[in-house]
Amino acid sequence: MSVFDHPEFDQHESVNYVYDVATGLQAIICIHSTALGPAAGGCRHWQYASDEAALTDVLRLSRGMTYKNAIAGLRFGGGKSVILADDATPKTPELLRAFGRAVNSLGGRYITAEDVGCSVDDMRAVNLETSYVSGLPKSGDNAGGDPSPMTALGVFLGIQAAVKTRLGNDSLQDVRVAVQGVGKVGLYLCRLLNEAGARLTVADVNDAHLQQARDQLPVTEVAPNEILFSDVDVLAPCALGNVLTAQTIPNIRATVIAGAANNQLSTEKDGARLAEREILYAPDYVINAGGIINVAHEYYGDSSEEHVRADVGLIPERLDAIFAEAKSTGEPTIQIADRTARRIVADGANASEDRMSHG
Ligand code: NAD
Repeated sequence: MSVFDHPEFDQHESVNYVYDVATGLQAIICIHSTALGPAAGGCRHWQYASDEAALTDVLRLSRGMTYKNAIAGLRFGGGKSVILADDATPKTPELLRAFGRAVNSLGGRYITAEDVGCSVDDMRAVNLETSYVSGLPKSGDNAGGDPSPMTALGVFLGIQAAVKTRLGNDSLQDVRVAVQGVGKVGLYLCRLLNEAGARLTVADVNDAHLQQARDQLPVTEVAPNEILFSDVDVLAPCALGNVLTAQTIPNIRATVIAGAANNQLSTEKDGARLAEREILYAPDYVINAGGIINVAHEYYGDSSEEHVRADVGLIPERLDAIFAEAKSTGEPTIQIADRTARRIVADGANASEDRMSHG
C-alpha cells in the first residue's frame, strides 16, 4: 500500500525511512507538521509485528504530537520516530549514533527525545551526532533530563481535575485508581496518587517493574488482561496505545479514564463510545503533555524546573475547558480537543504565511 493511501496518513509533511548498513539500524522518522515550529516528538525503540505496524504507529504518533504541542502552547510542530527493534540488532551506542546522523540530516526539521524503549543515556549517544535532540541529562536547576516525572505530574493534576468534574470529589482520598503499566511514568504517577490518598490497583507485563511498585507502595496487583476492567473510579492507561476499543469499552467499570499512554483510543469512534457510556475521557495528548513541556523548555534553554512545573500546572485548566464544552454540547472530549488543536495549527500556519507575504 502507498503511504499516501494509508488510513493514518493525514497530510504528513514527510515520512523518512532510514537504514544504516554498519549497525543494521532500521528507523522511520515522521514529520507531521512544522506549521508551529520544528517537528518535535520522541523516539520509540520497539519490536513491531511488521514494518506496516511500525508505519501505522509513527503516522499516528506524529500527528498526535502536532496536536499535543499545539494545545500545550509550544513553539513546536509534530513529529515522531520509531527504531524497529529485533533480536539480531541490539540498541548499541553505534546504532543510536547512526540514528542521530539521520536526525541531523533533516537539518532541524525534526527534534528527537526519549520515548518508550529509550533513555537519557540513549539520547546522549544521539547527541554525539546531532544537536537536534532533547531529554539530555539535567544540568543544575535548568529544565531537562528524563521527561517522565513531568509527564506523571501532568497526569496526576489531570486526574484531580477529571475526578472533580465526574465524581465531584475535591480530593483523591480513597479514590480507587487502576494504573496499567508501572514503567517510568506509571510508577511516578503511583507515588503521587499514593501521597494523595488514592487506592492503587496495578498491572504490568514486566515483573521487574511490578516488583519496584510492590516494594515501594501499597498496591493491589491484578493480571494484565484484567486491569482495564477493574472495579475502580479511575483508569489510568500508562502502557501502550490502542487499549480503548469496541471490545474493551463495554466492559470498563471506571467512570474516568485519564492516563499517560499515547493513542489510547483505537479509532475516533471509541471517543463517542466512551461518551455514550458517560465515561469521562481526558484526551491523552492533552493530559500527557508534561514531558514535552519539559523537553521544550530544555531545548530552548529558557527556564528552570520551577517554570516547567508552573507550565505543567496549566494542564488541568485545558482539560476543564474541554470537559465544560463536552458537558454543554454532548460531544466526545477527543473531538473537542482535535478541533481545538487543528484551529491552533491553522492559525499558526496563517500567521506564518502572513509574516512571509509582508516580508
Ligand atoms: P515505559 O516503557 O517506561 O513503561 C511502560 C510500561 O508498560 C512498562 O513497564 C511495560 O512493561 C508496561 N506494559 C506494556 N504492555 C503492557 C500491558 N499490556 N499491560 C500492562 N503493562 C504493560 O514507558 P513510559 O515512558 O512510562 O511511557 C508510558 C506511556 O506513556 C507510553 O504510551 C508513552 O508513549 C506515554 N508517554 C510517555 C511520556 C514520558 O515522558 N515518558 C510522555 C508522554 C507520553
